[in-house]
Amino acid sequence: MAASLLGRDKRSTAASLKAECSRQDGRGVQLLGELLDSVLSPERAVAEAEVIEWCKSLMAGGESFDDFCKMVRGYDNATLCGLVWTANFVAYRCRTCGISPCMSLCAECFNAGEHTGHDFNMFRSQAGGACDCGDSNVMRESGFCKRHRFATSSNIPSVPNELMMMPEHILPRVILHLIQHLRDGYNEPDSDPATERDLQKTLQQMEPLISLLEDLTKMGGAMRSILTRVLTNHQIYKDLCSGDLCTGEKAYTKKNYEKYLTALKGSGLVSSEERSVTSVLDQMAGASNVTILGATAGTGQMDSSDEEEQDGSQGVGKRKRVKLSNSTKDSSIMDILKHKCFLEELLFWTVKYEFPQKMVTFLLNMLPDQSYKIAFTKTFVQHYAFIMKTLIKSHESDTMSNRIVHISVQLFSNEELARQVTEECQLLEIMVTVLLYMMESCLIKSELQDEENNFHVVVNCGEPLLKNNTYWPLVSDFINILSHQSVAKRFLEDQGLLQMWMNFVSFFQGMNLNKRELNEHVEFESQTYYAAFAAELEACAQPMWGLLTHCKIRETQEYTRTVVRYCLDALQDWFDAINFVDEPAPNQVTFHLPLHRYYAMFLSKAIRCQQLDLDSLLPDQEMLMKMMVHPLQIQASLSEIHSNMWVRNGLQIKGQAMTYVQSHFCNSMIDPDIFLLQICASRLDPDYFVSSVFERFKVVDLLTMASQHQNAALDTEHERSMLEGALTFLVILLSLRIHLGMSDDEILRAEMVAQLCMSDRTHSTLLDLIPENPNPKSGIIPGSYYFETMLSAVADFKAPVFEPGGSMQQGMYTPKADVWNQEFDPIMVILRTVYRRDVQSAMDRYMGFLKQTGKFSGTPWPPYRERAPLNPSYKGLMRILHCKTLHIVLFTLLYKISMDHQNMSEHVLCMVLNLIELGLDNLPEETAEEEEMFGEERCSDSWFHGTNIATNLHHIINYVRVRLPETAPEVTREAPASTSSDTSSFMQNSNTAQVFSLVAERRRKFQEIINRNSGSAIQTAAVRPKTSKWTAPNSTPQFTTTILEIRESMLSLLIKLHHKLSGKQNSYYPFWLEDSESTSRLDPMQQIHGDGITAIERILLKTAARSRQNKCSIEEICRKVAPPVPPKKSNSADKKALDKEERRQKARERQQKLLAEFASRQKSFMETAMDFESPDSDVAMDVGSTEQPDSETVYDCVICGQSGPSTEERPTGLVVLLQASSVLGHRRRSTEPKKLPTSDEEQIYPEDTCGTAHDVRITDLQQYFKDSSCLQSVSIGWEGGVYVQTCGHTLHIDCHKSYMESLRNDQMLQSFSVDKGEFTCPLCRQFANSVLPCHPEKSEEKSIWSPYNSKSLLTLIKEVEEQQEQLGMFPVSICPITNLSKEMESVMKDIRSATQKKYIDYGKTPGSPDNDFLFMYSVARLNLELELVHRGGNLCLGGASATTKRSCLNQLLHVLAMHMRLFRIDSAYNPWTRLTQLTQVTDYGICDDEKPEVPLLYRDVSSLLLILVLTMPQELHKEHFTCIVKVLYNLLYTQAVATLSFRFSEEERAAWKNSGKLKQTMCNSDKSWEVLLSHIICELSKGRLYSASNTGQVSMLGTNIWSPQSIEYSIQQFCLPFLRITSLLQHHLFGDDLPSCQRTEEFGMLASYLGLLLPCLQSNDEFCISACLDWPIAALDLISQWCLEVTTSAESHSEQVTNLLVQDPQWSLPCLLQLPENYNTIFQYYHRKACVHCSKVPKDPALCLVCGTFVCLKGQCCKQQSYCECVLHSQNCGAGTGIFLLINASVIIIIRGQRFCLWGSVYLDTHGEEDRDLRRGKPLYLCSERYKVLEQQWVTHTFDHINKRWGPHYNGL
Ligand SMILES: [Zn+2]
Ligand SMILES: [Zn+2]
Ligand SMILES: [Zn+2]
Ligand SMILES: [Zn+2]
Ligand SMILES: [Zn+2]
Ligand SMILES: [Zn+2]
Ligand SMILES: [Zn+2]
Ligand SMILES: [Zn+2]
Repeated sequence: MAASLLGRDKRSTAASLKAECSRQDGRGVQLLGELLDSVLSPERAVAEAEVIEWCKSLMAGGESFDDFCKMVRGYDNATLCGLVWTANFVAYRCRTCGISPCMSLCAECFNAGEHTGHDFNMFRSQAGGACDCGDSNVMRESGFCKRHRFATSSNIPSVPNELMMMPEHILPRVILHLIQHLRDGYNEPDSDPATERDLQKTLQQMEPLISLLEDLTKMGGAMRSILTRVLTNHQIYKDLCSGDLCTGEKAYTKKNYEKYLTALKGSGLVSSEERSVTSVLDQMAGASNVTILGATAGTGQMDSSDEEEQDGSQGVGKRKRVKLSNSTKDSSIMDILKHKCFLEELLFWTVKYEFPQKMVTFLLNMLPDQSYKIAFTKTFVQHYAFIMKTLIKSHESDTMSNRIVHISVQLFSNEELARQVTEECQLLEIMVTVLLYMMESCLIKSELQDEENNFHVVVNCGEPLLKNNTYWPLVSDFINILSHQSVAKRFLEDQGLLQMWMNFVSFFQGMNLNKRELNEHVEFESQTYYAAFAAELEACAQPMWGLLTHCKIRETQEYTRTVVRYCLDALQDWFDAINFVDEPAPNQVTFHLPLHRYYAMFLSKAIRCQQLDLDSLLPDQEMLMKMMVHPLQIQASLSEIHSNMWVRNGLQIKGQAMTYVQSHFCNSMIDPDIFLLQICASRLDPDYFVSSVFERFKVVDLLTMASQHQNAALDTEHERSMLEGALTFLVILLSLRIHLGMSDDEILRAEMVAQLCMSDRTHSTLLDLIPENPNPKSGIIPGSYYFETMLSAVADFKAPVFEPGGSMQQGMYTPKADVWNQEFDPIMVILRTVYRRDVQSAMDRYMGFLKQTGKFSGTPWPPYRERAPLNPSYKGLMRILHCKTLHIVLFTLLYKISMDHQNMSEHVLCMVLNLIELGLDNLPEETAEEEEMFGEERCSDSWFHGTNIATNLHHIINYVRVRLPETAPEVTREAPASTSSDTSSFMQNSNTAQVFSLVAERRRKFQEIINRNSGSAIQTAAVRPKTSKWTAPNSTPQFTTTILEIRESMLSLLIKLHHKLSGKQNSYYPFWLEDSESTSRLDPMQQIHGDGITAIERILLKTAARSRQNKCSIEEICRKVAPPVPPKKSNSADKKALDKEERRQKARERQQKLLAEFASRQKSFMETAMDFESPDSDVAMDVGSTEQPDSETVYDCVICGQSGPSTEERPTGLVVLLQASSVLGHRRRSTEPKKLPTSDEEQIYPEDTCGTAHDVRITDLQQYFKDSSCLQSVSIGWEGGVYVQTCGHTLHIDCHKSYMESLRNDQMLQSFSVDKGEFTCPLCRQFANSVLPCHPEKSEEKSIWSPYNSKSLLTLIKEVEEQQEQLGMFPVSICPITNLSKEMESVMKDIRSATQKKYIDYGKTPGSPDNDFLFMYSVARLNLELELVHRGGNLCLGGASATTKRSCLNQLLHVLAMHMRLFRIDSAYNPWTRLTQLTQVTDYGICDDEKPEVPLLYRDVSSLLLILVLTMPQELHKEHFTCIVKVLYNLLYTQAVATLSFRFSEEERAAWKNSGKLKQTMCNSDKSWEVLLSHIICELSKGRLYSASNTGQVSMLGTNIWSPQSIEYSIQQFCLPFLRITSLLQHHLFGDDLPSCQRTEEFGMLASYLGLLLPCLQSNDEFCISACLDWPIAALDLISQWCLEVTTSAESHSEQVTNLLVQDPQWSLPCLLQLPENYNTIFQYYHRKACVHCSKVPKDPALCLVCGTFVCLKGQCCKQQSYCECVLHSQNCGAGTGIFLLINASVIIIIRGQRFCLWGSVYLDTHGEEDRDLRRGKPLYLCSERYKVLEQQWVTHTFDHINKRWGPHYNGL
C-alpha cells in the first residue's frame, strides 16, 4: 500500500494523506507511518534529494513548500532576533547597551537600533555568534531594534492545529532518521585509522537533511515549538529509539544501537583508559598522602573516607577525583551518559563528530524558543565533561574550541539560565572537576627549592594542552558564569568548591621554573614561558578578578574571609610540599605564584572595600616570613636579569621579565607581589626585612666602609646595577600606593601619566597600556567616558598632521605642562617600563620640558614626589624607613660615594637621597620624645642607638670596625691615630666598634621571631643553617678586621656631597643663617626640579625644618668647613645687577630660540612648497633668486661637482622622472566631484571624462577624414601621456652613465630597477628614470623684441611661411650627429617607452610616422596642461621666469622640436596657407578613394599651435611666435562663434543673422562679433547643418535667452584655455614673467601678454575679445572658405557634424571621487558586494578611488595572464598608477608601475587614529585634509617622491 504511494505525485498524495490524518480513526496516521517507513528506509541513502522532497511535501500537506513556509511564518511569535552567524561575520557590540560583555548584534539590528553616541564597535566574529537583539537578559531594551522592540506575542494569532499537524507526525521520524545515520556512520577511532574521513563522509551525506531542519527553524516560533516538543519529549524517544525496538529483530537498527552503546562507553570521566594518565603520579604516592593530609587537616571539611583509605596508593589526581565524587550530591558528573530524549542524543553525536558547523547552526537556530533554550542548556551541561574530554583528544582543537564557545556563550551569558543550571545541574562542580581533570593529565614533579624532597606537582608548560591553550573554552565559560552575581555567590559559599579551586590554582604555583645557567649557554631556549604566563592569567587570574568583583561590599566580608583562609591553607601545603625552611634555593626563579597573588588581592579588597581588620586575616610571623621569600626572589631576579646575569639562559628569560611587568599582566603579577611584600614589610621586623632585601640582591658584601671587599655572591661587574636594583626596589616598595590607599581615580591617573610621560600615545595605544583589571576599572569599562574625562584632564590632544616629509602623524595625546610639573613620577615609570630605554625617554622628555619652561637648564634628576597618605592598616610599612639597618646602609653608601669607592653611581646616590627624604616625610609620631631621650651626643656607641631617621641623621659615627681583605690600604694603618686628636677616646671606642653584618643580623632576627612564635621546643629544628656557598662568610680566611675612624654624620656627608657635586669647596651655605624665619616660610616642595645639588639642599632644608637639633648640627658643620662669611652672599645692589644680567641673558636665549624656530618653520615651509609645486610656493621660491637671464647658463654636475655650460660634445642633462599619466583623462565637465557610489542605485559612467570624449572625437574624425590629417587635428595623451618632471638637479650625461654602471653593480641594495634606467638623484635622492639633455644656449638669440615693431602682420606671415617651406627641404645631413643629438634621441626613446604602446598608436596604420608626430606634440601639450592644472587651472597668479628652474619644459620643447623638425611633412598639408590666405578648396571630396582632410573648424587650435611652433626652424623668433598666435586666434574665434551658433534656438539664430547683416558696412566690421556671427550662421546654413542638428541635446544647452553679454562671456570662456596654454608656452620658450591678475581680468591680461591686445586696451573691458582679432586678409572671405570646408564634406557625415563642430575645451580640475563622511557607509556596501567579473564576493575587496571600479585584490578569480585585477586596473585606469582603498582594512595602497606602497588611511576615528584592518572597529570619519593630500600627490605625480616604503608587487595585487 505505502510502497505504491511512492510512485505517485507527492503533492496530491500529501493532500490526501493530510485529509485522512485529520480524521479520528487513525488510519491516516498509520498510512503515513508506512509511507515514511519506505521513504526513510535505512537501506536508502539519506542524501537522496527525493527523501527531502518527500519530507517537504508531506509536511506541507498539499500546499507548495514555499507557501507552507510563508503561512507558518505568519504565526511567528518570537521576540528575539537570534540570527546565528559563523566565523568572519561582521557584527556589532555596544558597551552602552550591553549587560553582558559578550553581547553582540547583527548589522541589521544594529543599524535599526539607536546607538548614536554609544560606545560601540564593529568586529569580525572569530568563533561565530548569535544576535542578542530582543534578549533583555543580555542587553538593555533601549538598544533593541525597532523590529524586536515592539514584537510581542499578543498580536500574533495562535497557530491552527491543522497547519502543524503533518509536521508533528513527520518530524519525529525525520529526526530518528538523522540519529540512526549518525549512529551508523560512527566508528570507534582506534578501530580504524580512516575513520576521520568516514566521519566527514557521513556528515556530507547528512547535510541536506540538516539543512532541511535548519530551514524549518527559520520558519519562526510556531515551527520551533513543534521541533522543541519532538526533541525533548521522553516518550517519543523511548518509543522510537531505545529499548526493545533497538534490540529487536531489525538487524540494521540493532547494529546501530550497539554502535551507540560503544560510543557511550567513553563518555564518562572515569574509565579504564584514563588510568594510564595518572601513572606518572602514582610514583609519588607517598607525596600525595602528605599533600592531602595537609589539605584536609586544617579544614575538617573533607573527611577522608574509607574509599580514600583504600586506594591511598593511587596518584594525587585520582585521589582528588574520588574526593570530589563524595562531596558532590550527584556523582553522575563522572558517569557514563544516559540519554532520555532526541536532543540529548543529538548533542552527544554533535560532540562525537566534533561539532560539525551545520549541526551547530541548527542547534543554535532553535535558541529563540525559550523552553528549548532551557532544555538545551541542561543537556549541554550534562554533556559538559564529555565535551571537554573530546576537546582534549581532538586533532583540531582550535576549530572545536571556537564551535564550543560559539554555543556556550549563548547559554551562559544569561544570568537566569546560568543560575538555574548551577543549582539544578551542578554546573560549578562540573566545571571545576573538569578543570582539575584536564590539568591532571599534564602534571610533573616540581623542582623548586628542594629537588629531592619536593612533593609538589605543577603543570608542565610544554604539554600541548597548555601550549595550544586548549583549556580556554572551559576557562572562558567559567569566567563567564562567575560574572553572574548569583553564580559567584554559590561558588564563594561552597567551601568544598573553594578548596577544589585552590587545589587547581596550586597546580600553577611554581610552574615553569628557571634555573640560572652559570657556565654554558643553554642549548635550547625553551619557549614554554608564554604558555605559563597565559595559563596563569587566564586560568588563575581572570577567575580571581571575576570573584573579586563580588567581594566589594561589607556584606560580603565572609566570602573574603573564606577565600583567604583556603588560600593560606593552600600556601601552607605548598610550603610543606616543597620542603621550604627559610631561604630560597639559589639561582632559581619562577614567575608564577598564583596562590600568593590570590591571597594578596583578596586582602587588598578586604581592607579597601570591606573594612575588614588586616591583622585578623594575616597568618603568624613565620608564615609571613615564608610568604615574602618568593615574591622578593622575583624582584631580585628582575634586577639580575637586567644586569645580564642570566644571559646564558637566552632571550626567553628577558621575555619573562618583560611579560611580568607588561600592562596586560602587571595587575595580576607584579602589583600583587609588591603589595604582598608591602604587607610583609609592614608587619615583619624592619631590620629583618631590610637585611633580607640586600641579601637577596646579593650586595651585602658591598655594604662595607672598607675601600675593598670581596663579594662571594656576585661578580664585581654586576655589583653596581644590583645595588641600584636593591635601592630602587626599596624606593618602589615604600613609595607605591596602588593597593595602599590610592583611590581608583588616582590610580588611573597615575597609570595614564606614567604612560604619557614615556612617550606621546595614540588613544588606542594608551587604552591598551592602561592595565585592564585593576581596581580603578572596577565597573568601569575601558573606553568609557570615565577614561576620557581623566585623559582630557592630564593630556593635550595633538591633532593628526601630515608632515612635509611624508610621514602621517596620527592624533596623539601628550602630557599637559602641569603634569610634568607636578605629577611626573619616575617611580611609577620604572615600575611600568618593559624596556629600560623607556625610563630614559621619560627623563629626556622631562628635561625638555624643564628647558623649555626655563625651570632648570641642566640634566635633571628624577623629581621626588610626595605620596598619597597610607591607609592606616599599612602604617607599619614606614618602620622600614626608621630602622638601624637601613640607616647603617644609607650611612655606608653616603660615605662610600663621598670616598669615591668603586661601583657607586649617581643612581645609587639618587635612591639613597630618596630614601632619606621618604624617611623625613614619614617621621614616626614619637619623634619629639626620642629626640629628647637621645638629645645628648653620645659618641661612644659605634652605630646608631635610635631608630628615628631625624635623630640618626646628625648622629656622628666615630669608629667602625670593618672586615677587609689583607690587600686593602686600610690594613697597613693599624690604628688611625694620626687624624684623631683624642687618642684616649679612640682606645676606648675601638673596643665597642662592631663589625656590622647584615646576614648575621637577619639570622638573629629570624631566630628571635621563630622563638617567639613556636617556643623553644622546636627552636633547634627551625633554624637549619644552610651551606650554600654564596652565603658562607667563614670560607674567606684571608679577611682581617680593622677599625676605621670616620667622624662623620649623615648630615656632614650630605654637605660634603653637595660640595662634591657642585665641584666647589664650601658650596653649601644654609641660607637661614641670614634669615632665621625662612626655614618655616620656604616650602621645600617648590624645589622639586633640579639635579643632585637641588635634592641635597631640599633634604637639608627639610631636616632643619623637622628638627631643631639637626638645624644646629648643619650650622655647626657649615661653620666648621666654611669660613664665616657665606660664599654666595651678595648684597642687594649686586643682586640687582645679577638679576639684570640674568634677565638679559634670558632675553637673548628667547630671541635665539625664536629665530631658530622661525628658521625651521621656514625650512619646512620650503619643503612643503617643493613637494607640492603649488603656485604660491613658486612665489616663495623666487625670493632669493638673482639669476641673470642674459649670461650663458652654467650647470653644476651633482656627480663630479664641476660646473660649466652644456655643450654639443659634453652635454649636461636634467635628472628627470618620466611617468605615464592619466590624470588629465579623468577630468570631468562638472566642477562637483563625483560621489563614490554606496548603493546599487548610484553609478559612475566614464562617458563624460576628458579621456573618453577625446577618444570618441578621434574615432569620429578617423571615420570620415584622411588619417594623417586626423592625427594633426587633435592631441592625445589625456590617458597614458608622458609627464616629465625634474628635481632640478643636473649632471654630465657621461657622469650619469658611469653612475648607472656603479648602481648596476650593487643592484641588490636598490628598491628600484637599474636595468630599466631607474635611479635616485645623487643629490636629493629623488626617484628618477632618465636624463633630459640641456640645450646649449646661444645668448645672442635672446633678441630683445617688441611686439609693435615695424613689421606688419602680413610681412611676418610671409616670413613664417618661408621658414615653413624650408622645412620640406630640411636636409638631415645638416644636423651633424653629435653627442647631444644622440642623447636627445635616447631620451625620446625613454619617453616613448615610459608608456604603453596602445597610448601611442592611434593611427590606422600602426607604426606610421604620423603616430610619432602626434605623440610628440601631445607630450608637449600634456606637460603644459599639467602645469596649468598644478597652477590651479588658471594663470591668475602669474609667476616669474625664475620658477622655470624647476621646470624642464624648455628643455623638453627643444628635444621635441629637434625630433619634429626631422619630420618631412608634405607642405601641401601644411595648414599655414589655409589659415592665412584664400586657397582653392575645390579638391575636397573629389578623390573617391581618399578621404578629405579635416576642415580647419574641426581642428584643435592648441594642437595646431604646437605643431606650428615645434616644426619651425631652430630658435624661433618671438615675433614669429606672436604672428602664429594671432593667426590661430582668428580661427579659434571663428570656432567659438560657430559653436555658439549651434546653441541658439532656430528663432534666435535667425534674429542674430539679420541684426549682424546690418552692421557689415560699419568700419572695423571684421572685429564686430555681431557681423562675424551673422556671417558664420549664414555660411553654415548653406550646408543645412543646423537643421540636421537642431534636435534634442544641443538646444538643451541654451535654454536661456542669449544677451550680448552672455554671448561675449561664452566666447571668452571658449578662448581662455587656448590663451592659457599659449601663454605658458611663451613663458617657457622665451622666459618672460607671467603677470598676475584678478580672475575676471585673466582674459585681458593673457591677451596682452601674448601681444594680441595693446596694453592700453587691456582693461576690464567687456568687449575686448573681438578686439584681439587681427585679420591678414578680408575676414569674411576667410571665414567663408573655412565654412565651405565643412559644408562641402558635411554630407558624408551629417550625424556627426554637430559633435565635431561644437567643441568644448573646458574641463574642471582633476579630482578623486568624493568619499562619504562615515566609513561604515562604504564598508557596509562594499564588504559584501560581488565583483562584476567573477560574481563572487572577494576576500580582499578594493576600490579604485579615481573611477570607482571595484576589484578583487590578490584574487586568483580575476587574474588575467598572471596579472591580478588590481594591477591590471592600475594599468587601464591610470596608465600604471592606481589608488585603491582596501575595504576590509580602511587603508589605501598606491600602485606605481611595478611597485606599490601602503599609503595609510584617510579615515580616522574620533581620536584622530587610523584603524588598520578595522581591528578596533570604532566608527571612522573622513579626514579631508589627508584626502586632499592624497589627491594632491596624485595630481602632482609625486607619489614616488613622498612615499618611502615601496616594494615590488609582482603583479600579484
Ligand atoms: Zn533586532
Ligand atoms: Zn539581529
Ligand atoms: Zn547602544
Ligand atoms: Zn660630471
Ligand atoms: Zn635631485
Ligand atoms: Zn580606476
Ligand atoms: Zn574581480
Ligand atoms: Zn574575482
